[in-house]
Amino acid sequence: MLSEQSIEHVVLERGEVANTWKTERWDSLRLLTPNWLTRLPGLAYDGENPDGFMTVAELIEFLERYADHGGALVRTQTTVTSLSRLPRNGYLVETDAGSWEATAVIVASGAFNQARVPAVSASLPPSLEQVTPLDYKRPDQLRRGRVLVVGASATGIQIADELLRSGREVTVAVGEHVRMPRTYRGRDVMWWLDRIGRLDERYDEVDDLVRARHVPSPQLAGTPERADLDLNTLTSRGAALVGRFGAINGSTASFSGSLRNVCNLADLKLKRLLDTIDQWAGVDDGPRPEPTRVDDRPRVLIDLVAEGFETVLWATGFRADYSWLKVPVCDRKGEIRHDGGVVPQAPGLYRIGLNFLRRRKSSFIHGAEDDAREIVAHVADHLATAQQP
Ligand SMILES: Cc1cc2nc3c(=O)[nH]c(=O)nc-3n(C[C@H](O)[C@H](O)[C@H](O)COP(=O)(O)OP(=O)(O)OC[C@H]3O[C@@H](n4cnc5c(N)ncnc54)[C@H](O)[C@@H]3O)c2cc1C
Repeated sequence: MLSEQSIEHVVLERGEVANTWKTERWDSLRLLTPNWLTRLPGLAYDGENPDGFMTVAELIEFLERYADHGGALVRTQTTVTSLSRLPRNGYLVETDAGSWEATAVIVASGAFNQARVPAVSASLPPSLEQVTPLDYKRPDQLRRGRVLVVGASATGIQIADELLRSGREVTVAVGEHVRMPRTYRGRDVMWWLDRIGRLDERYDEVDDLVRARHVPSPQLAGTPERADLDLNTLTSRGAALVGRFGAINGSTASFSGSLRNVCNLADLKLKRLLDTIDQWAGVDDGPRPEPTRVDDRPRVLIDLVAEGFETVLWATGFRADYSWLKVPVCDRKGEIRHDGGVVPQAPGLYRIGLNFLRRRKSSFIHGAEDDAREIVAHVADHLATAQQP
């Protein structure tokens, strides 16, 4: 898009094209978005299985094709080590392969650079192995004992499912989550979300943007069988459910007693979504999924060591790494302050690729196109102004 506007630019990448998919994902991962939705500006899926879900290898091939097709100048193996302001206008970009001066910089360094692991992890007994989704590759990499998976959003339930299928005993600590069926009324749920306009909701139209930007990823997996993957699936495979991980005392972990409440809330929100779809489609209420099966009194204390747990897998989210960003634009939580990707405190500095950056779909691969178009228009205006005498 920068090329379309004849804006001279360079893309700096610390690894190779599709680096995160080559180095930070587990082996069996498939996209949870269907192939027909996996598109980037000027390149859409053109294979024989539009309703399927790409493997990581297929996505890497798609992204490499895109990099060739787009014609952007990508400098790989170039790590940005510092981004600072120049004394007058513009920015100094320092890397391990030289420096650049730029009138505008678009930070597209990803939203998932580091695992967000709660502070309580530091107090776990050293005998327990702790793993994050960025290190996890496959079940046989973990010790043989029981596994506690903390987090029940897309990553947590997908990895828990894989561990259960590999014969592990798995307990899942469940906090707030978003339950979703893979298909509804014969269509993929992403098709419905697209059709009812949910994915296109704009950041300047939602009531509570901070909240919208922190909504967990949906409990979905892309499998050839197009199967649902929710807490009922996991318990039917033998998983035990507990509430949110709270604290650790010695080797005894305590969990919130609100498991039933968070599951009821997720069931309620799912019902509301399906009601909205039915209203949009102008049909009577369709079949509703079985409520989440939960013990009325789930366990709130588990002595992890005594009960044979050997691994804790923190599927508690991700955060961006801005350790190289020397322009003071981050808030106390270390998140960049921006207005739809435009950083007001630093003219010429932009961000792309964050949850709900400009639209609900911003966190998905296909969400980049509309966001990028608007950001690039802003960049073009900025350059025109900056170049005025
Ligand atoms: C487990 C998981 C599953 C997902 N599943 C789906 C899905 O099914 N469908 C979907 O649409 N989306 C999915 N996503 C979201 C998807 O990953 C993002 O939409 C997409 O990757 C955003 O692209 P990006 O280029 O902004 O960020 P990234 O893909 O994270 O790329 C950022 C790039 O910046 C580079 N970089 C970082 N720091 C530096 C530096 N200092 N110097 C130079 N280079 C640097 C990195 O090496 C990386 O290549 C998933 C994400 C995760 C974590």
